[in-house]
Amino acid sequence: MSTILLTGGAGYIASHTAVVLQQAGFRVIALDNLVNSSEESLRRVAQITGQAVEFIKADIRDADALREVFNRFAIDAVVHFAGLKAVGESTQLPLKYYDYNVAGTVTLCQVMAECNVKQIVFSSSATVYGAAAEVPIHERAPRSATNPYGQSKLMIELILEDLVAADPSWRVAVLRYFNPVGAHESGLIGEDPNGIPNNLMPFISQVAVGKREQLQVFGSDYPTQDGTGVRDYIHVMDLANGHLQALRYLQKHHGIEAFNLGTGQGYSVLDMVKAFSETNDIAVPYQIVDRRPGDVAVCYADATKARQLLDWQTQYSLVDMVRDAWRWQRQNPEGYRQID
Ligand code: NAD
Ligand code: UDP
Repeated sequence: MSTILLTGGAGYIASHTAVVLQQAGFRVIALDNLVNSSEESLRRVAQITGQAVEFIKADIRDADALREVFNRFAIDAVVHFAGLKAVGESTQLPLKYYDYNVAGTVTLCQVMAECNVKQIVFSSSATVYGAAAEVPIHERAPRSATNPYGQSKLMIELILEDLVAADPSWRVAVLRYFNPVGAHESGLIGEDPNGIPNNLMPFISQVAVGKREQLQVFGSDYPTQDGTGVRDYIHVMDLANGHLQALRYLQKHHGIEAFNLGTGQGYSVLDMVKAFSETNDIAVPYQIVDRRPGDVAVCYADATKARQLLDWQTQYSLVDMVRDAWRWQRQNPEGYRQID
């Protein structure tokens, strides 16, 4: 049985990936400093799969703590989710983002090399395409970044490329996620943002559950069908499966390869509001406001490469995404926090 280390293992995408990996027969070790998550997510994973997840509270910037983990467990590969992801905050605190994301990844890779574990799946983002000139976006599209968060993802991609160039025995899969949404169908795990959500889907869910008054739709004058921004929303369980397929791919391939993980289908903000309220039979009041600075009009993936090389395709529909997001929100109005 292969043993996989998930950095950022208690987070949103990692907890869903833990379910998929355990169910596929992998042993999962989760490492997280809990800066943006709770260990409760992993207890819920165990509830779903019937298998405990080994949890280590540690920071990826702490080389000694990482060494201890690699010495204690015979780790075959790392899926590297750990990092900070709030775009707005990254413009205020760029050094923090470069420290957690870039320096953290360098430390992780140094310890991996030392311990001779040279297989890594990295959580990148469609943000590395900047304002792409063409959609659907292909992996070969030029990369750029418009904020320190995006810059940190791009820098990490470049670092991993240099690492493989220097030592071709590394096996690296760079997964560029489009817009992950939804939750496991049990409603036991899901996205649990701290404070006011930055992303559309958790915001819609919190309006629906009555935690926020209304959604602000950022701009209705984009060159899109209804004037609102278009994105490629992907069910988090499809995304989780992508990691399983990437690990399988790395068992057979050296070098580095980047893959878009999206559905290839774009939906507007108003499409999402409508799907959510119609599917779940609940009102989502909204108000159109100005564009959010830095947003692009349209972003969706060409996911042909992942289909062909990873033998992966999405299985969940838009209705699944909004239904599962709502089930999680309804069953856990306070996320993983206990309600007394
Ligand atoms: P998340 O915040 O739920 O998960 C990240 C986890 O990393 C958290 O549990 C956090 O506590 C942990 N972490 C942060 N810094 C750490 C450190 N220094 N040491 C140890 N643990 C640390 O976010 P998520 O949405 O699950 O995202 C996972 C990854 O995917 C991130 O790298 C993110 O940038 C990337 N990504 C996310 C999205 C998205 O929309 N959710 C899109 C593209 C890429
Ligand atoms: N959006 C919105 N209101 C919100 C949050 C997001 O109208 O409160 C829009 C945003 O302008 C974009 C889409 O929803 O067109 C997806 O935004 P999100 O922040 O979820 O993802 P990203 O911009 O990173 O693709």
